[in-house]
Amino acid sequence: MNCNQCPVSCGADREKSNGACGVKGIKIAKYYLHPFEEPPISFNKGSGCIFFCGCSLKCAFCQNYDLSRNLRGKEITERELAGVFKELEDMGAENINLVNPTHYLRHIRGAIEIYRPKIPIVYNTHGYETEEALRLADEFVDVWLTDLKFIDNALSKRYTARADYADYALPAVKFMAQKPLKMREDGKMLSGCIVRHLILPLAAYDSVNIVKFVASLPKTVYFSLMSQYTPFGDISGFKELNRRITKREYEKVLAAVEEYGFKNVFLQDFESASQDYIPNWDF
Ligand code: SF4
Repeated sequence: MNCNQCPVSCGADREKSNGACGVKGIKIAKYYLHPFEEPPISFNKGSGCIFFCGCSLKCAFCQNYDLSRNLRGKEITERELAGVFKELEDMGAENINLVNPTHYLRHIRGAIEIYRPKIPIVYNTHGYETEEALRLADEFVDVWLTDLKFIDNALSKRYTARADYADYALPAVKFMAQKPLKMREDGKMLSGCIVRHLILPLAAYDSVNIVKFVASLPKTVYFSLMSQYTPFGDISGFKELNRRITKREYEKVLAAVEEYGFKNVFLQDFESASQDYIPNWDF
C-alpha cells in the first residue's frame, strides 16, 4: 500500500522500502515516564512518552536529531507497540504520549485495535499534518499536543525539508483547536489542545505572529511558549542558530503574549535552556 499519511505524500510502499520520512516498519527510540511535559500532561507520575524514529519535516535544529534523522532505535511490531501501551499504563503513566507519530499512523491504529489504553492518548506532533490524517487520528486522540513552528514559509524553506509548513500547519492547528477541553478537578488534562511554540534566534518577529494566530483560536486552547532553544542538530550552515535566544527576543514575544491576554498559557523559565533536557536515547 502506498503511503500518503503526511503532506510529503511520497507514495512509498512501506512494506518494502523507506519513505521520505526515513522509515519502513515501526521503529522507536525509547519509552518512559517523562516528567517535563506541560504540567497537566506530565501531572504527578509522568507522561508515558513513546519516541518514534524518523520524521517527515526534518528540521535542521531538531532537538531529537538522533532518532528523527539518525534513526537510532529498535524495530517493533504493532503487537509489541500495543504491549508498550500496556507497560506504560502499568507503570502508572498519566497518559500515552505518541511523540512524532504521523508517519506511523496506520501502525498505531493497528496497535490500538490490539490494545486500547484506558488512559488519555496524547498526539505530540510537529504540526505538519493533513486534515485526512488528523481525522483518522481523532478517532483515538484525547489531547492534541502540537508544535506551531513557523508562519513565515521562508523559515520553513530555510530550516526544514519542506517549504510549505504553514500551508499545512495553520489549518491543522485550527482543526486540533476544536477538541473539547476537559480538565479533571485536580488539574490533569483529559481532553483538549495545547499549541507549543519554540522561539528561534533571529525569528522573534515570526513568534509574535504565531502568538497573534494562537490568540485567534478558541479560548479553550492552551499556549505553551518555549524559550529552551539549544544549538543542536545539523546547523553548521546556519550561523544564527549557533546561539540561544536572547533575553530581548524572549521579552518581545512575551510582550505579545501579555498584549493578547492569554489565560491558558505555559511559560518556560528563560534560564532553562540546556542540553540536559534532551534525553539520552540509549535503550
Ligand atoms: S509518512 Fe513517510 S512514507 Fe508516508 S507519505 Fe509521509 S514521508 Fe512518505
